[in-house]
Amino acid sequence: MLLIPCPWCGDRDETEFHYGGQAGVSYPARPADLSDEDWGEYLFVRDNPKGPLAERWSHSAGCRRWFSITRNTATNEIVR
Ligand SMILES: [Zn+2]
Repeated sequence: MLLIPCPWCGDRDETEFHYGGQAGVSYPARPADLSDEDWGEYLFVRDNPKGPLAERWSHSAGCRRWFSITRNTATNEIVR
């Protein structure tokens, strides 16, 4: 069981959350200038480290707010 720390509700079971993917992925500044390959990379390619990764989570069965945390993908340790 993974306890995820919601900034507003405190530690809750992971079943109350939805994963939102990698945090910090910026929308392209000039999207019309991107090639198909660059679009594909923006839409589908994400970091996949064995270690710390900044992630977006939604507390969908609680306060319904979005927030970011850093989770170690190897150990599930969450760094606030
Ligand atoms: Zn919450």
